[in-house]
Amino acid sequence: MKLKDFTGQKIAVDLMERALTEDRLNHAYLFYGPEESGKLTFSLIVAKALNCLVGSGEACGSCISCKKVDKGIHPDVSVIAPEGKNIKIEQIRQLKNLSSFRPNEGEKKVYILKDAQNLSLPAANSLLGILEEPPSYFVFILLVPQLSLLPETVVSRCLCIPFSRVSRREVYEFLRMQEFSFSDEQLWTAAHLAEGSIGRAVRILNSDNWNHHRKKAFEWWKGFLNSSEKDLFSYAEELSLEENLLDFLNFIESYYRDCLIYQAVGEKELILNIDYLEEIKEIKISPSRALIKKIEELERFKRKMYIPLNKKLALEAMLIKMKGVK
Ligand SMILES: [Zn+2]
Repeated sequence: MKLKDFTGQKIAVDLMERALTEDRLNHAYLFYGPEESGKLTFSLIVAKALNCLVGSGEACGSCISCKKVDKGIHPDVSVIAPEGKNIKIEQIRQLKNLSSFRPNEGEKKVYILKDAQNLSLPAANSLLGILEEPPSYFVFILLVPQLSLLPETVVSRCLCIPFSRVSRREVYEFLRMQEFSFSDEQLWTAAHLAEGSIGRAVRILNSDNWNHHRKKAFEWWKGFLNSSEKDLFSYAEELSLEENLLDFLNFIESYYRDCLIYQAVGEKELILNIDYLEEIKEIKISPSRALIKKIEELERFKRKMYIPLNKKLALEAMLIKMKGVK
């Protein structure tokens, strides 16, 4: 994929295209926005464009350099991710040690710091040192869900570029252009469930256990609806152990939305989880206002879930509130 083909993130595309073609590259970028809004994919396209052998300011996608980036084996392009919970100072030191060596094959050494909000404090301080006086052949791209999760000192040394959710229509149109063997209806459902994230929609469609996960969330949800207050802790515990908590919560939210829509308009066409319709019809959850409040609680939790917090406690608090609204 080329920069200009990157759907839905016009600001990022325009800024980076200009930087690359007019040779006005910054040494550090900070891409911020929701999970799976394409920050990593886009960073890798930028890395390709910077080192592409065709050298037109784009990523040709077919030269040996572009192919190496695609395979994750380009010696000058590194993705640095948290080891365990944090990006550790040793990881930044290692990178610092390499700063006196020019790129092996390409023009620029590109360091992409994934989940940069997990930089430990010493690592962030060490990074500041390089961000202040980087070698001319270094380009940093930091990826975070929200700017506020990074120290101001780091943010101020980067050019910040926002990533946003894209419309369902755009996600759907993107999916239609790919070579998926799914029906239009399935693509549309994936576009809905992906909540404005192309990456998530693709992952949903590619995942073998997507339906299994969705069903598990449905069973959890039905149980939760019938649970008593004393059971809430075990429901919170179960959620806290979920590996893909965000997906799980999105599924649950989609069930509430389907209930809401079915109760309000009774139109089958608008239901996302059409295969669960019969069961959804049977579920009687109080007035629409209460349903909306429950959805809002889920939304609130999702917005905060990247801030370090005691996940289980926060989940308990959320479930208590959701149970409480009538
Ligand atoms: Zn190329």
